[in-house]
Amino acid sequence: MTLIAIDAGHGYETAGKRSPDGMREYAFNRAAAKECILHLEKASIQTIQLHDDALDVPLAQRTNRANQAGAHYYISIHANAFGNGSWNAASGIETYIHSVKGEKALKLAQIIHSSLIKKTGSKDRGVKKQDFHVLRETNMPAVLIECGFMTNKEEKALLASPAFRAKCGKIIAEAIIAFLDAGQPSHKKSLPKEQPLYRVQTGVFTTRARAEELVKKLRSAGFDAAIGIINK
Ligand SMILES: [Zn+2]
Repeated sequence: MTLIAIDAGHGYETAGKRSPDGMREYAFNRAAAKECILHLEKASIQTIQLHDDALDVPLAQRTNRANQAGAHYYISIHANAFGNGSWNAASGIETYIHSVKGEKALKLAQIIHSSLIKKTGSKDRGVKKQDFHVLRETNMPAVLIECGFMTNKEEKALLASPAFRAKCGKIIAEAIIAFLDAGQPSHKKSLPKEQPLYRVQTGVFTTRARAEELVKKLRSAGFDAAIGIINK
């Protein structure tokens, strides 16, 4: 069973984390996280939520909880800001991993990031490496996503809209599911590899007509029969 730790960045009252006109970053983060959790749970993927609407859960507490729970992946959801708190033109989505995290973190980040860029049409700022606490102190592959700039007027309007918040959460969840399916095809319903399958053969012929004769007999007797070529 895969366990995904979901971290909506900051808290509702965290100082500074808001748009020039007062939208809280946490309001975006928690709504996108909520949708993401919903979609993961719908796909029978377990989640733990590391944020809390009543307080800004300290970073160490978030990563400790994910580590103790044995989460397999850590997803941190944020909205970006640029400059000194006034409106500016910086825009787009960027995704972060830690430089010491391996291939899995990079692959997961790439799937989430490219999916967000494709489905939102936002500017592609790339997958980047950063020494953020939640990326560094997690024992599992961790990805931090900045879903747009609160300091950009157009993007802030998006980040404030319930539809865009839900869209981001859904895209992230679907990307995680696609990543998990690609890595573990056995998640899909199929027979375990070690279980043998038996086939019954009733005749081998050098002419197709003789084979068809036998198939006819078998079918009329109520058996399922098929012709295959065995020496090609
Ligand atoms: Zn943030």
